[in-house]
Amino acid sequence: MRRRPRRRWIPRHDLGLPPAEYRPWLTSAWSKRRDSALDFEQIMGARLPDRRLLPMPMGRHALSNFVDAAGLRPGDEVLVAAYNYYAVVRVLLQKQLVPVFVDVEPETLCMDPEDLRAKIGPNSRLVLVTHMFGHVADLDAIDAIRREHGLLLFEDCAHAFGSKHGSTQVGQRGDGALFSFGIWKVVGTFGGGALALTDELAARHEPVEWAGSRLTAFVTTTSLAVTARIVAPGAYGWFAEPAIRFARWRADRGHPGLRKIIAPVKDDPEYRFDPDAGAPYRPFMTRMLQLQLARLDATVDARRAATAGLRARLAGLEGVGLLDADRHGRSNGGYMGIRVDDTEGLAAHLAEMGVGANPHEFFDCSRLEQFSEYATSCPNAADVSDHVIRVPSHAALEPGDLDYICAAIAEWVR
Ligand SMILES: *Cc1c(COP(=O)(O)O)cnc(C)c1O
Repeated sequence: MRRRPRRRWIPRHDLGLPPAEYRPWLTSAWSKRRDSALDFEQIMGARLPDRRLLPMPMGRHALSNFVDAAGLRPGDEVLVAAYNYYAVVRVLLQKQLVPVFVDVEPETLCMDPEDLRAKIGPNSRLVLVTHMFGHVADLDAIDAIRREHGLLLFEDCAHAFGSKHGSTQVGQRGDGALFSFGIWKVVGTFGGGALALTDELAARHEPVEWAGSRLTAFVTTTSLAVTARIVAPGAYGWFAEPAIRFARWRADRGHPGLRKIIAPVKDDPEYRFDPDAGAPYRPFMTRMLQLQLARLDATVDARRAATAGLRARLAGLEGVGLLDADRHGRSNGGYMGIRVDDTEGLAAHLAEMGVGANPHEFFDCSRLEQFSEYATSCPNAADVSDHVIRVPSHAALEPGDLDYICAAIAEWVR
């Protein structure tokens, strides 16, 4: 194999916000004091006018709270796409709900309405639809089916801030929705998340105060903030990546604490959702949210341009399959997935070339050992779980980066 000189590291993620914009606010990252000029609901509500909006420590808290507000009972069945983030399924189990895995469309990675229809049973109560990678799920079909059967609908919009169904931000079709503002998401605010609720459910929601762990808050929020301040926008490659490597090294030697906080593995059978374990929501994040949302349209345009550029360069390349991000709506260009035979091999090659890629983010949960009690056959989910890998597609990529990433991929599949 030919060796190219290693260029600067091309990270998988970028905050999409120049540090100069949020630097003045970093000093308030620790403060719990609210700034009365910053109203969370008002700021986020500009994008979701039809919903009540509540800040959450993380996206998963939103799902947990929704289950309570909606009055779901132990034993109720939740229809959920099999290709998913396992932590979401874990929250359902801890609520004593029964996950029923539904297959996905191979082109969008989102729930397949036909398989949804086939899996609905007498105990079904909720459909949990995920706009995977920022691709809009087939909301018209899924909504029609769930109404026919009198089921609740919850939208997982962790990847989908900026994704639109028609002209509407997703997250306003169902009874509730979650958003996640972790550093890895399209709208990142150094942590946090949101619960979107209909007025009806919001009236039933009982506000919760989370204890929050000061240690976790310190390691996540502040270290990332400081990192970004020093070396942004290359923060991920210069600091986070080595820090993650160090955390894994320690975990291999029997000290998994740091890794669990900064680089949780994507199928951890020991993971349990502890609402009080994470960093609490900080008013600082509302300010970050305001900054991010002010430029969301530009971010989406830049990400869509990056994914279009990657698609154009990869089109026709044998051994690389492309997805259909806009089949049911306008994707935010969130994540760029490609299909290859050997995702592990490609990830290793890209790492060698200085390009961030991770073949182990999402899995066919219907096949995971930890959910074996609920195992069911979802052939498309199994297939994409084995063959889809995500490559960088964020707003900071330049045409030269796109050339480089695609040349590295072409070199591998050839
Ligand atoms: C990140 C993510 C979540 C949850 O977000 P957290 O803020 O990490 O709790 C939910 N679903 C999907 C698909 C995600 O990627």
